[in-house]
Amino acid sequence: MIIPGKKGRTLNVAFGKIAIMLTIFLISSFAIIIALFISLYFKSLHDEARARKTITELNLINKNYKTEIETLVLENKAQTEIIEALNEESESIKTTLIELQELEAKVRSLMNNSGTSLNPSRGGVSLNSSLTQEVKKSIESFSDLIVQLDNYNAQQRRLPLMLPCIGQVTSYFGYRSNPFGRGSREFHSGIDIANSQGTPIYSSGDGTVTYSGWLGNYGNTIIINHGNGYESLYAHNSKLLVSANTSVKRGDKIALMGSTGRSTGPHCHFEVRYNSKPINPFNLIKGGT
Ligand SMILES: [Zn+2]
Repeated sequence: MIIPGKKGRTLNVAFGKIAIMLTIFLISSFAIIIALFISLYFKSLHDEARARKTITELNLINKNYKTEIETLVLENKAQTEIIEALNEESESIKTTLIELQELEAKVRSLMNNSGTSLNPSRGGVSLNSSLTQEVKKSIESFSDLIVQLDNYNAQQRRLPLMLPCIGQVTSYFGYRSNPFGRGSREFHSGIDIANSQGTPIYSSGDGTVTYSGWLGNYGNTIIINHGNGYESLYAHNSKLLVSANTSVKRGDKIALMGSTGRSTGPHCHFEVRYNSKPINPFNLIKGGT
């Protein structure tokens, strides 16, 4: 029964039981489908929100990565610059090493020309070996050179290269007329340097005093052994200041000038011997200092 309003006619409709059941079923099904759609709609909304959130998070992570990559790129660039600078410096050091080795070669050449036999340089910069190896090689070579120069200096200091006193050379090495004989000639085995009595006499080179005392015509005499076959002799002294077996350095005061022995006035007879044979002292003095 359907009643539209106060003035309308009442409508009577009859429904069968099956029709009612069917209607209820349809309505229920419709309601369930609607509910399902609503549920799916809300679920999709929820999923979308979650997806958005994930995207935001991923964007943030991505941004962080970008920043990190930018930092790394900058660092990489800075390190590349440092490496380039180090490479340049390394090349410059190698060039300097080559210059040093050239200098060393010059020193060795000068020393060899002076009659000293030196070992050859150990240098020679190889562009393939490491800089550290090159520097080590150069240091070894220079150390070797220093040792050799030191030996050379010691050898030079030992040679009788210095005139033993201040004064005038009155007689040279070689044959001369005999100052004690009329017209006769004699061999003069050294040089005579005259000055006043008491003038200091110095050692001509480093060495060891092997004789200090009276020696016949030489008077008060000092003999110094310089090694390598060299000896020096200082004669006619008024006073001897060092005794035998004393080590002396070049320039040490060893005696005072006098006129003892076979002498015509105060002077120093300076004699240099090589392998016991007198040689001209000026041969060494000219070639030395
Ligand atoms: Zn003499």
